[in-house]
Amino acid sequence: MKIGGFLKQSFIDFPKTISAVIFTSGCNFNCWYCHNPQLINGNCTYETTIAEIYDFLKSRKNFLEGVVISGGEPTLQPNLKEVIINIKNLGYKIKLDTNGSNPEILQDLLNENLLDYVAMDIKNSLKNYNKTTKTKKSFEKEIKQSIKIIMESDVDYEFRTTFAPEITLNDINAMALLIKEAKLFYLQKYEIPSSLANISQEQIEQKQFVQTQSTNNISAFTLLNSQTPPDFTNPKSAKINLYSKYNQTALLPHSRTTYNTAIEIMKKYVINANIRGF
Ligand code: SF4
Repeated sequence: MKIGGFLKQSFIDFPKTISAVIFTSGCNFNCWYCHNPQLINGNCTYETTIAEIYDFLKSRKNFLEGVVISGGEPTLQPNLKEVIINIKNLGYKIKLDTNGSNPEILQDLLNENLLDYVAMDIKNSLKNYNKTTKTKKSFEKEIKQSIKIIMESDVDYEFRTTFAPEITLNDINAMALLIKEAKLFYLQKYEIPSSLANISQEQIEQKQFVQTQSTNNISAFTLLNSQTPPDFTNPKSAKINLYSKYNQTALLPHSRTTYNTAIEIMKKYVINANIRGF
């Protein structure tokens, strides 16, 4: 297993369970707001090996109750099942965080009773999925299948969506229909990516930064040094690529009112829906 990070103790990542968190390296999505972008290409490695994690877990059996396997995307790891079996044999519960792109693997793990909780991201409405994930391949079939597998399983689960700026209330409605009658949904607070953390809200509103590399990842944007704001009305200017791509306001979070409206839409279709992160 390619490990990109390890958290020895968490009270928030696994409901009602004190857990450790393994972050796997590598993801088949490229969500532009990803807060672990260093994990996407799979080249990020961490000094701790899986053998050392097993030893750590053995030593914490009186304190920890579960292990979260998160990403990146854990289902891309060829030995995921073996690792889960080893951790379960140590007496731990397992929560899997997944983007839902590998339903066969998910089904196999559930069939073998290897999972105690599954959290699956719903990135956007199916028709606009790629706006968020920035993938060329459509994962529509896989996403639908994973949702069905999870909802038909006996394990506890949640679906969750980061309310990124490009997601509209129409998208929320379509997503609600996609997971109709699900037990639990969280609308998660969108945070401006840390790569832009040094850019103030005011600068974002004034669009005082430009795309400096040819990539979809938001980390390629930097502040303008110029005292003079660029001409954002000039469509020929290379500097407006970002804004045409993200509708000029894409970095700005939705208002709290829009969050409330979105969750009311969700509540019409799913059993339990909450906002998370405020
Ligand atoms: S699925 Fe998760 S880890 Fe992968 S790019 Fe999206 S936010 Fe990042």
